[in-house]
This record gives sequence, structure tokens and C-alpha cells, in this order.
Amino acid sequence: MRIDKMLANLGYGSRKDVKKLLKNGSVTINEVAVKDGKQHVDPENDIVMIHGEQVEYKEYIYLMMNKPQGVISATEDTRHETVIDILEAEDVVFSPFPVGRLDKDTEGLLLLTNDGQLSHKLLSPKKHVPKTYFAVINSEVTEEDQEAFKKGVILDDGYETKPATLKILKSGLTSDIELTITEGKFHQVKRMFEAVGKRVMYLKRMSMGPLELDPSLELGEYRELTDDELELLL
Ligand code: URA
Repeated sequence: MRIDKMLANLGYGSRKDVKKLLKNGSVTINEVAVKDGKQHVDPENDIVMIHGEQVEYKEYIYLMMNKPQGVISATEDTRHETVIDILEAEDVVFSPFPVGRLDKDTEGLLLLTNDGQLSHKLLSPKKHVPKTYFAVINSEVTEEDQEAFKKGVILDDGYETKPATLKILKSGLTSDIELTITEGKFHQVKRMFEAVGKRVMYLKRMSMGPLELDPSLELGEYRELTDDELELLL
């Protein structure tokens, strides 16, 4: 790979910025200064330094976001802000995309990556990856609802949902619940509650497979996955 491409990929500015860095002798490959952007580099084996600090090359990026309401979980949208719009430029250069979708008004765990294989693994209907949501429901959630969700409910399009686990955290005029589903139909949680005559007033995804939302992430904040988290996923 060309050194200028590698550095631009890693977020060291535009091609022009990278050219400047090279020109003023700030970049070394295996301790030899390189000024020519066309110089070839093996990102896995050569030691690249900028201002004496080693540059870590990575092909893939894995980000955990606490998605806020009001942003779309897509890479592009002509009218609304997307989850990509709220990433730092240094992360956007890796061209991450959201793994699956959360509704505009849903908050919580969203994984963003450029690793298509992992995305496929997490989203494939055959893998039955569990997803757990916290929700506030507009009325009393009962044991009958728990039973119905365990058996499967019929959605508005006639689809019968797979067994899901409903935990009632607080039941009353409004209820707090946790629902774990192993599929990802469009608006699934909202439509499952509609199927039992109830409405989701607030929805937040708490986990996806082994990955749990980091409680220290404020809405709109994100961070890279830790090595341990990544190991659990890959
Ligand atoms: N189910 C929903 O209804 N909405 C989401 O955003 C995710 C799951």
C-alpha cells in the first residue's frame, strides 16, 4: 500500500495534509524518513512513525455507540442526521456502517463497523443472536403477555414471532420491561406490544449477543470496542 494512502486511511488528514507531513520529514518507515507519498509500505510488518511515534495500522474498526433519539441508523440520509454524521472524522475514514437498525426514536446499543463478515454473523437470521431491549409500556404488562411472548405473537402482517423472553421490571399504569428477542423484524418490539394491545413509549437496546451497552456512555457518545469485547464477538 502507498504510504500516503495508509496515512490518509488512518485519518491523518486529507491527501494534501499527508503530503505536507511527508514533505517536512515527519514520517519514517523502519527509521528511514520518507518524503515520497508513492513509497510502498507493508502495514503489517513495517514500522511507521510520525514525529517519532509509532502508527498503529488497522483495517477494521469496531465502535459501540449509545444511539440518541433523532438520528437515523443509516450511512446516508438526505433529510436527517445519521449515526455516521455524529462520528469523528478520524473514524469516518474507515467507512463504518451500523450493524442492523434502530428506529429514529430508539436509543441504546449500536455497533458500527466496516467488518462485513462480523455484521453478517450478527444479523443472519440463522444465527438467532439475542437482542435485549428495555422499554416503557403505556399500560400494565401482565403474566399473560409473558406467556404470549414465550409462545409467539402474530404481528400485523401475519408473521408469528419466535419465542421471546419478557421480564417485568415494574408493572402499573405504565410498565418497565426487558424483552429479549432472537430475530430482527422491522419495528419488532413495538409491533409485538401492539399485538397484545399495548404501546411502547420508550425503547432502548441494552445488548446484542454478548455485547452489552457500556453504561458510562452518554447518549450520542461512542468508543472503540475493547479487545475482550471483540474477542467475544469474533
Ligand atoms: N424494535 C423496534 O420496534 N424498534 C427498534 O428500534 C428496535 C427493535
